[in-house]
Amino acid sequence: PFVITSACKEEKNGSCVEVCPVDCIEEGKDMFYIDPDICIDCGACEPVCPVEAIYPDDEVPEEEAQYIELNAQYFNQ
Ligand code: SF4
Repeated sequence: PFVITSACKEEKNGSCVEVCPVDCIEEGKDMFYIDPDICIDCGACEPVCPVEAIYPDDEVPEEEAQYIELNAQYFNQ
């Protein structure tokens, strides 16, 4: 799945929500999150993010790796 990382916290732009074909991006208190169980890896959200906060899970920068778990946790609480 794709993962939203810390840059979203500054911007919280939300363009990704509109382009996601399976509606798996939800707005949390600080940022948006992608539900990894529903994401179909289409990649539509990545280019529309103005702060490049979205990565495929296998390309998340090392310092942002915790967000892989944080996105999943958001949907498991
Ligand atoms: Fe939605 Fe596609 Fe982004 Fe997954 S990769 S969150 S399905 S827009």
